[in-house]
Amino acid sequence: QHKQRLLVVANRLPVSAVRRAEDSWSLDISAGGLVSALLGVKEFETRWIGWAGVNVPDETGQRALAKALAEKRCIPVFLDEEIVHQYYNGYCNNVLWPLFHYLGLPQEDRLATTRSFQSQFDAYKRANQMFADVVSQHYEEGDVVWCHDYHLMFLPKCLKDYNHKMKVGWFLHTPFPSSEIYRTLPSRSELLRSVLAADVVGFHTYDYARHFVSACTRILGFEGTPEGVEDQGKLTRVAAFPIGIDSDRFTRALELPQVQNHVRDLRERFAGRKVMLGVDRLDMIKGIPQKILAFEKFLEENPSWRDKVVLLQIAVPTRTDVPEYQKLTSQVHEIVGRINGRFGTLTAVPIHHLDRSLDFHALCALYAVTDVALITSLRDGMNLVSYEFVACQEQKKGVLILSEFAGAAQSLGAGALLVNPWNITEVANSIGYALNMSPDEREKRHRHNFAHVTTHTAQIWAETFVSELNDTVVEAQLRT
Ligand code: UDP
Repeated sequence: QHKQRLLVVANRLPVSAVRRAEDSWSLDISAGGLVSALLGVKEFETRWIGWAGVNVPDETGQRALAKALAEKRCIPVFLDEEIVHQYYNGYCNNVLWPLFHYLGLPQEDRLATTRSFQSQFDAYKRANQMFADVVSQHYEEGDVVWCHDYHLMFLPKCLKDYNHKMKVGWFLHTPFPSSEIYRTLPSRSELLRSVLAADVVGFHTYDYARHFVSACTRILGFEGTPEGVEDQGKLTRVAAFPIGIDSDRFTRALELPQVQNHVRDLRERFAGRKVMLGVDRLDMIKGIPQKILAFEKFLEENPSWRDKVVLLQIAVPTRTDVPEYQKLTSQVHEIVGRINGRFGTLTAVPIHHLDRSLDFHALCALYAVTDVALITSLRDGMNLVSYEFVACQEQKKGVLILSEFAGAAQSLGAGALLVNPWNITEVANSIGYALNMSPDEREKRHRHNFAHVTTHTAQIWAETFVSELNDTVVEAQLRT
């Protein structure tokens, strides 16, 4: 039977490539959320299109890399250093990322950004056109093209200009901010119109979808309907498609001997103490300083807990060449040092802060031994760490403390303790409540979350999005 082809277009391919010789590359598949989501989707023949994350200036290298990637069903888009600087570091990470997460920039940076805005936006459009060129080289009639994230908001329009019959979907993995925030963006109209060229536009939550529709009605004067956005009879379907995880991958991992050994080691290591866990990229949006300050307040007010609880914070380094991220790193180190100095003993400290990532099995073991997970994102599109923690807690039935500003609060809200991360008193009280929670209540809350995480999987997410896209195109044809 002939499967429908699915072209997944994202800024980064799900591989890391290292050059071994002039014409040889070694590739490593990185199993991020999107990859494991789509690995589970068996009904499509999937191809990936994106940037391999390396600069390859010479044709020999490009040809060799394309050939190696083809075996992994990946197709590269080659971006040179200058365009990566302007499009990726500049417009994507310095303009759209902070704006979509309601983060203000320092005054100087904001002025600098304002001045370089136009050239960065031009580079963004050029980069998106380069993605479109590669898609169009590989497109076959009937293919579904699924564009991902804020890096590629211009892509739907480029694709439809190339072939208006192409089935195009676009999904945003970050929040979409209130239209009052969005409308400060100089390129606001052009970007909205480009996204609206897609047949289906998807977000993690209903709120983000509503913000997007409001931006279209207020800024473009288009009509918002229950179905989406309408402009002179042309409908763009807008809806919420909350992402999930491949929960089986986590429950299976917990059964491996090496993971169980690891679990045993951790239990011994922290015997007699409750384990609290944070797992975040070291990003401003994750609210790591707020989390640690709340933990300090809890220790301050609850002396009897001081030698009975430990906070393990995994802080995965990210965008380490950006000064703001460097500043955040030293700020966090300073707070951690102060608290460990204040509450530590000769043999134990209350906070273990790690500037590194863990491999998958170590992460699963850590999720499994945790009593309380603490997620304090100031804004977060979804937050998959909360889902992964729940998937690994069938034995322990630990507590999830979750920021109301994470998309996941919409789905795990009934099982988690929801907090406003800016309210340190509230977070500190929730830590106390979580640590003292009765087994009955823990069980009930965990049941709720576990049922959600195991039924709303990444695979179902992908299938739902693509079938909505197929249906929308059929309905549009029926109307005309
Ligand atoms: N993660 C990882 N290694 C680590 C820590 C985290 O691979 O050492 C993964 C984690 O399993 C999760 C992802 O990083 O799938 C983080 O996703 P999330 O949605 O929570 O936040 P994001 O980083 O996308 O903002």
